Amino acid sequence: MNTKAFQKIGYGVYIICSKSGDRINGQIANTAFQVTSDPPTIAISINKLNLTHEFIKSSKVFSVSVLARTAPMTLIGQFGFKCGRDVNKFEGIHYKIGTTGAPIVLEQTLSYIEAKVVKEMDCGTHTIFLGEVVDGDVLADGEPMTYAYYHEVKGGKSPKTAPTYVKEEASQPVENKIRFVCSVCGYIYDPAKGDPDNGVAPGTSFEEIPDSWTCPICGASKEEFTAEG
Ligand code: FE
Repeated sequence: MNTKAFQKIGYGVYIICSKSGDRINGQIANTAFQVTSDPPTIAISINKLNLTHEFIKSSKVFSVSVLARTAPMTLIGQFGFKCGRDVNKFEGIHYKIGTTGAPIVLEQTLSYIEAKVVKEMDCGTHTIFLGEVVDGDVLADGEPMTYAYYHEVKGGKSPKTAPTYVKEEASQPVENKIRFVCSVCGYIYDPAKGDPDNGVAPGTSFEEIPDSWTCPICGASKEEFTAEG
């Protein structure tokens, strides 16, 4: 089977949150979809290795925040490439506790939906949770982030735990300047593009980037990068 066929499926980019006791966690997911409107239900697919999976299993509640296109890579990195077992993902993040008790990220959020799990399906590496919607609201106008936009425009990567993860093929160096790969999240620093969002002009070689620079996706330091090849 040509696995590239999967890449033509359209997805969004969401932050899915849950709780366990008084602990909260959230993660980036590209799979969330409305299943029925009467009663309103929503389904999500979560990797069993993720802390959020553990929390949804125990509390049977989750929230889905629909991210705007303008969401910066730092927000996606905070929830997508860090583990809630190691860091408090909500530090410095604008959020509230919803009616289910699950946290809801409000930053760069166009709308949110809260649900109670009514069914779950074991899918091997992942679980599909079907939730009956208990609350939700629209917070802002704007275009939702699509998975394609995240990859093509923002240069985003899929973590290895994403349902859609595919191993990247190496490409040729540009302008004799070598690309560098983040060993934590797989982000590729391309000298031709630079990192203008963080003050690194296009054409800057990796060596020329200030030492204070960190991976725009996961926040790893320069030492975590290795030359591609
Ligand atoms: Fe990284």
